[in-house]
Amino acid sequence: MAIKTIRLKAGKEESVLRRHPWIFSGAISSVPHYIEEGELVKVETSGGDVLGVGHYQIGSIAVRMLEFGVDSLPDDFFMRRLESAYALRGKLGLIRPDNNCYRLVHGEGDFLPGLVIDIYGDTAVMQAHSPGMHFARGEVADALTMIPEARIRNVYYKSDSTLPFKAGLEPENQYIIGQYDGNIAMENGLLFNIDWLKGQKTGFFVDQRENRALLERFARGRRVLNMFCYTGGFSIYAMRGGALSVESVDSSAKAVALTDANMELNFPGDNRHTSHTEDAFKFLADMDNDRYDLIVLDPPAFAKHRGAIKNGLIGYRRLNTRAFEKIKPGGILFTFSCSQAISREMFRLAVFSASVKAGRKVRILHQLSQPADHPIDIAHPEGEYLKGLVLEVE
Ligand code: SAH
Repeated sequence: MAIKTIRLKAGKEESVLRRHPWIFSGAISSVPHYIEEGELVKVETSGGDVLGVGHYQIGSIAVRMLEFGVDSLPDDFFMRRLESAYALRGKLGLIRPDNNCYRLVHGEGDFLPGLVIDIYGDTAVMQAHSPGMHFARGEVADALTMIPEARIRNVYYKSDSTLPFKAGLEPENQYIIGQYDGNIAMENGLLFNIDWLKGQKTGFFVDQRENRALLERFARGRRVLNMFCYTGGFSIYAMRGGALSVESVDSSAKAVALTDANMELNFPGDNRHTSHTEDAFKFLADMDNDRYDLIVLDPPAFAKHRGAIKNGLIGYRRLNTRAFEKIKPGGILFTFSCSQAISREMFRLAVFSASVKAGRKVRILHQLSQPADHPIDIAHPEGEYLKGLVLEVE
């Protein structure tokens, strides 16, 4: 089948020439008849010069570019991209006997817009964010099992919450290859039950790996409070780091059960840990002053799109004000935002105004971000989402 052509309006090729992978619908002058969502299309300038090839979609982002300067893709396109993604994770030292979970594909950051793949041992959990990647799922899954060193035996496809609702595609959560429920993966020598069937996202937040490892180094002799604990990642690193006590809080009973199970897996019978199923804001309001000297705030994204920035910032300010008010003098606060719409500067300003409100003197010790297996294509700054601060509160 011949590949269809999408032509841009005059002057709208600038960002594509700079290799930004998104083409907005407003830049397009004509879309061919009978085009299907998810179809591979060739993109041309108004003058007919080839710009590249991408997946078409109805919506504000109309094309997600897969390759620039070509008018078709080679048959082994996915295989090559996946091999190069795998090679990068190897280079980063993430594939080791004591670490078998990592992000293999981070969408635009791996030049595969619309696709996310996390690896847990010999299982890959794959999410499509675009119809194009949804239709390519079988091909991607086959290519995954063909990277010889990766030894992937199972591919679980989980896209019911990531595909655009309007595309009207049948959501799908199922194994494409193999089947294995109940995997235990290892991160920096610590064990985690990964529930990709029922858990959030791909079952685990791989993106906090390095920030958890940093927390471990601060934990010795401290009383730790891990808010929004989900699978208990920060709590388990704090235990290994020699914390005096660790408390984990999440409003979801399922998350607290996951934390407890992971704690039992790594520190069976260790009574330094307790967990609470409670709303974070209520917990912070009710807790005593000076009770904790290491607090982690890793909430869900408060601003899921640009329109929510203002309220999101209010949320971050409120949350951080509470922590500043209650943390023990000399305490350490790890505070995060995973809202893509909120910039590093905006987040820092919200945390600054929280410190003013609480009347605490605060120093920035570390500025944190997403790890290298969540790379950011320099042409696509929207790929930066995770930011964090490690603060000393006098
Ligand atoms: N820190 C975790 C990831 C946090 S994800 C890690 O390292 O893996 C965000 C978590 O916040 C989810 O588990 C969700 O259940 C929880 N959550 C959302 N709203 C909450 C609230 N108001 N109070 C407490 N927990 C909340």
